[in-house]
Amino acid sequence: SIRIEHVAKSFSAYPALDDVSLEINDGEFVALLGPSGSGKTTLLRVIAGLEDPEGGRVWFGKRDVTDTAAASRGIGFVFQHYALFGHMTVAQNIAFGLSVMKRSERPSKSDIRARVEELLELVQLPGLGSRFPSELSGGQRQRVALARALARKPKILLLDEPFGALDAKVRRELRAALRAIHDDLGLTSIFVTHDHEEAFTLADRVALLNRGKVEQFDTPQEVEARPATDFVRAFLS
Ligand code: ATP
Repeated sequence: SIRIEHVAKSFSAYPALDDVSLEINDGEFVALLGPSGSGKTTLLRVIAGLEDPEGGRVWFGKRDVTDTAAASRGIGFVFQHYALFGHMTVAQNIAFGLSVMKRSERPSKSDIRARVEELLELVQLPGLGSRFPSELSGGQRQRVALARALARKPKILLLDEPFGALDAKVRRELRAALRAIHDDLGLTSIFVTHDHEEAFTLADRVALLNRGKVEQFDTPQEVEARPATDFVRAFLS
C-alpha cells in the first residue's frame, strides 16, 4: 500500500497541503480530483519524492520512503507535457531510464532492445521506435511517455494530468489503454486530473481535494450517491 500520514507542505506560508492522510491499496487506481490550486500536483510530487513535505510521512508498504530520493522509490512518472527528449528517437526515449542505470545493474544492449519492443507493443505503437517525437501525434507521444515510465518495471505509476493537452476522442482511447495496462501489470496508479468524468470513469477510488485538504476519498459510486461536504456537492454539479 501507499500510506500518506499527516503530510503538510506550504509555499511562502500558503498551505498547498494541509494535514493530508490517505491510504491506497496495492493494485488500486486512484484519481486525485479537484480545482486548480487544490494541491493535487503537490501531493503527487510528495509521493514521488520530488517535493519534501514539511511534516508527515510517506510509506510504501512497510518502507518509510519519506527521506528516500525520487530515483530510489521505484516509481514511474508521467507528466502532462510530454517531456520527451526531442533529439532522441522513440526507442532511445523509452530506453533512457535503463541506459542510465549503473553498469552493474544495466541490462545488455540486446535486452534493452527487446524491452523497448515489448513496451512499444504494450502501448500499441509497434514499429515506431525509430521515429522522433516531432513525428508523432500528441496521443502517440503520451503513449511513449507511458512506455518510458514503465521501462524499469515500477509497481507504482504516478500520472499528472497526462491527457490534459489532448482532444476528447484521443483522451478516451488513452484512458482505456491506461486502465488496461494498469490491470495487466498489476500496478498501483495515482492519476491527477481536474476532469470529473475522467476521474470517475478511470478510478477505483477518487480523492477530492480542496485547498490542500482531502474532502472525501471513496468510490465514484459512493461519492456520487453521498457527497461528504458542500464542496464535493458543488464541485460535482
Ligand atoms: P493545477 O490543477 O492547477 O495543477 P493543483 O491542484 O495541482 O493545481 P498544486 O499545483 O499542487 O495544485 O498547487 C497547490 C498550491 O501551491 C497552489 O496555490 C500553487 O500556486 C502553490 N504552489 C505549487 N507549487 C509551488 C511552487 N513551486 N512555488 C510556489 N507555490 C507553489
